[in-house]
Amino acid sequence: MKFNTKTIHGGQKPDPAYGAVMPPIYQTSTYAQATPGGHKGFEYSRSHNPTRQALENAFASIENGKYGMAFGSGLAAIDAILKLLKSGDEVISTSDLYGGTYRLFTKIFENFGIKFHFIGMDNAANIENFVNKSTKLIWVETPTNPMLNIIDIKATAKIAKKHQILLAVDNTFATPYLQQPLDLGADIVMHSATKYIGGHSDLVMGALIVKDKDLADRLYFIQNASGAICGPQDAFLALRGIKTLHVRMQRHCENGKAIAKFLASHPKIEKVYWPGFESHPNHNIAKSQMKDFGGMISFVTKGNNYEDAIKVIENLKIITLAESLGGVESLCGHPASMTHASIPKEEREKTGIVDSLIRLSIGIEDEEDLINDLKQALG
Ligand SMILES: *Cc1c(COP(=O)(O)O)cnc(C)c1O
Repeated sequence: MKFNTKTIHGGQKPDPAYGAVMPPIYQTSTYAQATPGGHKGFEYSRSHNPTRQALENAFASIENGKYGMAFGSGLAAIDAILKLLKSGDEVISTSDLYGGTYRLFTKIFENFGIKFHFIGMDNAANIENFVNKSTKLIWVETPTNPMLNIIDIKATAKIAKKHQILLAVDNTFATPYLQQPLDLGADIVMHSATKYIGGHSDLVMGALIVKDKDLADRLYFIQNASGAICGPQDAFLALRGIKTLHVRMQRHCENGKAIAKFLASHPKIEKVYWPGFESHPNHNIAKSQMKDFGGMISFVTKGNNYEDAIKVIENLKIITLAESLGGVESLCGHPASMTHASIPKEEREKTGIVDSLIRLSIGIEDEEDLINDLKQALG
């Protein structure tokens, strides 16, 4: 089955009870048993729920994995991965990563004796400099948020395999439409399904997908033991979102390309970050591991002045100032004061997150309307 069919049918079959084409929302915590242990595969909804299971099968299918797991949020999914580790273990993570992930690593898991190395991964070979006997996990986000850096998943996987370290990839920005990390050698794919997977800014959810049975069992144990599952309503919404993922992504990419080019040619803009530009430092890696370049774009206004950037944001009429990304509507964000406020200014600026950086999540509206909105806001 090709990707555009998997989004609609992957891991799906009509509901066994009445043949409902969409899995019903099984809004139940528990399931009747004929005799102790005599159930139909469902005992208690923290452990299993039919709606969630349908979604988890779909997750596995679209990422070319075998096992999917749905969590209450992206961070809950990351939290489950980190719980594979124990005190004394070390993690090598990209330094340019989602602010909430950084906060979880440094403010929660460092307290439990896990050591994190935040490093530049533009050149995958750099990772090896930080590997030692305690290294248990490599954490990759690509494209990164918000600088749209690209990390070579295949090269990273090679290093991980060589040293028997788990490689987890946060695939939120790319989605499986653009890249499938398990096929490139990653062990775990993680999503904030809140973003493109859900796609309609109406839910908060996380996902993990793996191929290996033993790893799946360990993660499932954590999911059930810690309990950060998603509810059946949200599972239903995410399933519905997945069915149009390929169509939405195609348009996100088309609009993204048009807007990145428009911004790059605008006299009031100093720099545009988008992996589709040939001048992007890792454009060739993006080209080899991604199908297209996505709808996420960051830019800095000329003069790198905080007030100018805020004025542009306030002037936008269609593009809405809001946290989050990946929905059908275009959103803009100011990383320094919003998503990345939890990263110290010094750390932030080292990775390029200056006070005038604006991040766009380009939606699937009419391209000309979006360009005109940016034109008037910049004017
Ligand atoms: C939003 C986001 C997360 C966190 O996911 P939540 O669903 O908000 O918990 C993690 N990584 C990336 C890249 C994100 O954009």
